Amino acid sequence: MKAELLQNPVFAMAAEQFDQVADFLDLNDDIRERCKWPKRLITVTVPVRHDDGSTRVYFGHRVQHHLARGPVKGGLRYHPDVELGEVAALAMWMNWKCALMDLPFGGGKGGINCDPRTLSVGEKERITRRFTMEMIPFIGEDIDVMAPDMGTDAQTMAWFLDTYSTHAGKMVPGIITGKPINLQGSEGRERATGHGVAFLASRALNKLGVPIRDATAVVQGFGNVGLHTALTLASYGVEVRGISDITGALWNGHGIDVRKLSKHVRKTGGVAGFDGADEIDPGEMLCQPCDVLAPAACSMVITRENAPKLQCKVLAEGANGPTTPEADAILVERGDVFVIPDILGNAGGVTVSYFEWVQNLQRYRWTEREVLTRLETMLEAAFTRVLQFAKRHDLSLRVASQALAVQTVAEVKTQRGMFP
Ligand code: NAD
Repeated sequence: MKAELLQNPVFAMAAEQFDQVADFLDLNDDIRERCKWPKRLITVTVPVRHDDGSTRVYFGHRVQHHLARGPVKGGLRYHPDVELGEVAALAMWMNWKCALMDLPFGGGKGGINCDPRTLSVGEKERITRRFTMEMIPFIGEDIDVMAPDMGTDAQTMAWFLDTYSTHAGKMVPGIITGKPINLQGSEGRERATGHGVAFLASRALNKLGVPIRDATAVVQGFGNVGLHTALTLASYGVEVRGISDITGALWNGHGIDVRKLSKHVRKTGGVAGFDGADEIDPGEMLCQPCDVLAPAACSMVITRENAPKLQCKVLAEGANGPTTPEADAILVERGDVFVIPDILGNAGGVTVSYFEWVQNLQRYRWTEREVLTRLETMLEAAFTRVLQFAKRHDLSLRVASQALAVQTVAEVKTQRGMFP
């Protein structure tokens, strides 16, 4: 099983990062192994009737990396390439993210190998409800709490909530986060990840002495994270010159009107064909001069090929695992790019998911202002912790943030003993 998981390139990358950090922390072999390998790997088949009357069987995975600090928390993604090893890598990163943010959670991740772009609403609903039923023995609001990720949204969470609650015979709002507001979702959750990416990018620019109102940005991906990163950056006065998604890449040297582009995407399904910018090669877009580059789409897009060519001052990672270890080494060697690593960069999402869960357990509601203020306070504290730790030990921000997180998890596992 270990070998099979490691054959996945994303898991190999997460494991390599972990080994680097474990070496730095000088973890002994037994605690190292316990921190690295997931506690539970669950794979279920999800048979679903399609609109044309045929039945297809999808594979759904859920990886619970560890439960030593509380329930596992992490997204559920729908994507044709989902496989167990990648889900395990994402669960491991969630683990470090929750520990870094000091949330009382372990990391989890789930995915179904379906293509949401080719499914009808009814088909997506039936896949979600069947997957939820298959997961019932393994989840609970104090065991495993899922959330949206690539290809899933608030509506997916509503179907999940309804299926679970119907089975339980009562409304269980804390079973899932990222729900619609009127189903006890949290104000601010939808924008939280992108808001956090943009907020931390602004803190990095501040450290570099770049005035935010003079700054420029490029955002890869225009889904939940990319859209809200771009909107928040624009609200700070940043000129967002490049934006891409799966349908193409756009460039406007005077700044793209993000709201107008968002309306175009809602109407057409993608950024292609927008009349407020020119088309650009998606690869070239990443290497244009800008103050902030925010990869907010998928993993392994900053590679050894393009890392030497990046012309950004801040790399604000919104996606999970957007930078390969080779590219990371090049950026560290270059020393002229302020890298906000993913487990810090996109931690706004899980932090507000935590707020949503707390509100659900308390049957209470906070305003959006309260949510975003608490979020910024927690991100600022984590950012400062990482900067100080990196300075003290002469580490990159990526290694520093993972080291802080792994140290926390290793301590808890040691204190509790062999079980968790
Ligand atoms: P999403 O499905 O809402 O959007 C994904 C976007 O990426 C879409 O615009 C899609 O067209 C684009 N895309 C896909 N492949 C691309 C490519 N090759 N080049 C350019 N664009 C491409 O997903 P999301 O929720 O915005 O998640 C994006 C990333 O952020 C993922 O890595 C996810 O794991 C991570 N993340 C999401 C959250 C969250 O709260 N949604 C939280 C933390 C991390």
